[in-house]
Amino acid sequence: MFWACLLRFMNESIMKITRITVWQLDLPLSEPYWLSGGRLKFEQLDSTFIRVDTDEGVSGWGEACPWGHTYLPAHGPGVRAGLQTLAPSVLGRDPCALEALNRAMDIALPGHPYVKSAIDMACWDILGKASGMPLWRLFGGDTPEAVPVNSSISTGTPEEMLALIRKASAKGYRVHSAKVGGSDTDADIARIEAISAGLPKGEKVTFDVNRAWTPGVAIQVLNSVTARDWVEQPCETLEQCAHVAGRVANPIMLDECMHTFGDHLEAWRHRACEGVKVKPNRLGGLTRAKQVRDFGVSIGWQMHIEDLGGSALADTAAIHLASATPEANRLASWLCHYHLSVDPVPGQGARNIDGVAVPPDAPGHGIIPDEAMLGQVVAVYG
Ligand code: MG
Repeated sequence: MFWACLLRFMNESIMKITRITVWQLDLPLSEPYWLSGGRLKFEQLDSTFIRVDTDEGVSGWGEACPWGHTYLPAHGPGVRAGLQTLAPSVLGRDPCALEALNRAMDIALPGHPYVKSAIDMACWDILGKASGMPLWRLFGGDTPEAVPVNSSISTGTPEEMLALIRKASAKGYRVHSAKVGGSDTDADIARIEAISAGLPKGEKVTFDVNRAWTPGVAIQVLNSVTARDWVEQPCETLEQCAHVAGRVANPIMLDECMHTFGDHLEAWRHRACEGVKVKPNRLGGLTRAKQVRDFGVSIGWQMHIEDLGGSALADTAAIHLASATPEANRLASWLCHYHLSVDPVPGQGARNIDGVAVPPDAPGHGIIPDEAMLGQVVAVYG
């Protein structure tokens, strides 16, 4: 009887999710963006913002913003449809019990990780506010370390791409992600050689193929160039990338083919890469991203920790995780919000200051969007 009463008392004292409010906001890019050899063009992103409220008056914010509709099996309208399906399994739950919350979401809606990431992010925000700690501390960091920022250079001629790199250098960027890949093998060889040789002194580049090459083309291009910079996602599948990794000298980074923790185990087992991109929206949220980060540290991978897209809210949540990652395992992080012409979290969060971004010190992720800038509420659950 005593234990039953105590249990009931404890249960009643546990914080519960009472409401989920959803906004949709189009985020226009300042300039059109091309990748994967020019076959994919992007002009605006479809972002979903959510506020998760609790019975204790603590609220958390999340954002889910797949990079367009063509980049991954993830799209903006899918986030909102998935939230409608997930809401009944999330309402009434303890937002601080993140593993249990994620298990409940996986039962209610198998797969669809990009739908779950906004809820997971908002609940990490609540956990931080409830415990009085910024996320970088909850992710294991002892100081809010500055994270180098990574530019993103749209596909073009070598001259156009080097001009964009110099423009980024002037803003403090020292690490660049140059988008290559296409059907013209000679053009890619020329791009890679010119950019690697023409890079400002002391700066680094990754050549991101965004899965555009077949294994044969990847092996041909990479064995023709003298550049030994990182090459990212050369082919579509993990199996194809592993085949390439065993036959070229460049270190390989994997991105779009990595969806589950099991994919990362497979990549390690097949020696398919020396590093990965860790993107919460692709993986299902910060909880899953932290699992991958911890695994990557344990096996010696180098990681770019950043989100798929979105405002400075999504960027900052990822910067918290990057900041709390050992420097030896942490490469630069890309900040999507620098490509946008709107800022719904005005001036807040991790911003590029002379080539580095520092996570906020406030409890949670430290960001509260301007609701007036988010437009109309599109759904309320609870
Ligand atoms: Mg990539």
